Amino acid sequence: MKETTRVNHPPAVELAADNHSVVAPIYQSVKFEFDSLDETERFFRGERPGFFYTRTSNPTTRQLELLLAELQGRDDCLACASGVGAISQTLLALTKQGDHIICFVETYNPTRYLIRRLLARFGVTHTMLSIEDTAGVEKALAAHKTRLVMFESPTNPVTKIADIAALTRMARSAGALTIMDNTFAGFHQHGQFEVDLFVHSLTKYASGAGDVMGGAVIGRTELIRSIRTDWGMLGGTLDPHAAFLILRGLKTYFVRYEAQCANAMRIAQVLAVHPAVSRVHYPGLPTHPQHELAKAQMKQFGTIVSFDLQAGADAGARFAGALKLFALTASLGSTESLVVAPSMMGGRDLTQDQLRVSAVTEGTVRLSIGLEDVDDLTEDVNQALAVSSPST
Ligand SMILES: *Cc1c(COP(=O)(O)O)cnc(C)c1O
Repeated sequence: MKETTRVNHPPAVELAADNHSVVAPIYQSVKFEFDSLDETERFFRGERPGFFYTRTSNPTTRQLELLLAELQGRDDCLACASGVGAISQTLLALTKQGDHIICFVETYNPTRYLIRRLLARFGVTHTMLSIEDTAGVEKALAAHKTRLVMFESPTNPVTKIADIAALTRMARSAGALTIMDNTFAGFHQHGQFEVDLFVHSLTKYASGAGDVMGGAVIGRTELIRSIRTDWGMLGGTLDPHAAFLILRGLKTYFVRYEAQCANAMRIAQVLAVHPAVSRVHYPGLPTHPQHELAKAQMKQFGTIVSFDLQAGADAGARFAGALKLFALTASLGSTESLVVAPSMMGGRDLTQDQLRVSAVTEGTVRLSIGLEDVDDLTEDVNQALAVSSPST
């Protein structure tokens, strides 16, 4: 074998059957082969398991999918390259021309775009309501044969809580599927409800490190099977190396989530009694209008704390600028704390009425609470409040 051949066929290193790596290796390979054409053909006929091409499936990605399905309490999962990828591929795989979707004002901006702009181009219609308008959902389901209801809880950024039992019951009796974007609550929450499909951004709590993107859809076997082929063709595959990083991050998911929730609760309490703050949105606070519903549905209340400053937009900008420990950026669920200033908030596609329903005001600030020492975070929040609203 010449060197130029050898470098393309390096020596194989085989592990004995009784010799295992403790951490699964990254299968950083696009292609997989079987020992013979017969076995390859059997694989294509579905007569044997295996892997062939990473766009369709890969062992490292598959390990992540199986773990996520188990955490969310469902049979199966498909991973892809981002949370928005998971949402778009799920919506595209499940809808066709003439279908109707129910969605909500209090929804992640790209999801609104996908339903209102992209799917609309393919003749999919929608009704957009407030997540609090349960009666409106009932009415819309009666008025239109509906393919699916797409919702979130807690919502972004003001942490409204969806009545999941009511939504899933109404949708089910109308023959509509429910898709819940469960990114804010996490993989260990809401599995007890009859949600047909959960979608997640793996970019957030899964790795916690803020260094990798991913997304997933999780549900029962036949539903995942029905969208699997379209997902392979839409092609937003998660890279095996990213899947490995996410798997590594998940090892500390529960301790991170719990510690960050405890920090978030403390920060929410600090904000709640501060004279510069007119309103705090955190489902764990008894003053949250849906605290009882949140308590009934959730094990933990999440790490997003939003609030309104008495002095409005300018104060919000000053507050965000004065924080020292919080990075001024989007996203959430990472171990470092983050802040979104009022002017960075989405919603430009909404009407004045819809903006009012969304409860996002000119002075709404969103904090994503990290793993830093809570006294340091509290001190930082207090000094930034003093800078933003000097008279209080
Ligand atoms: C971030 C986020 C997404 C999108 O995830 P990406 O991985 O950034 O594409 C979807 N839904 C919610 C609720 C999110 O917070």
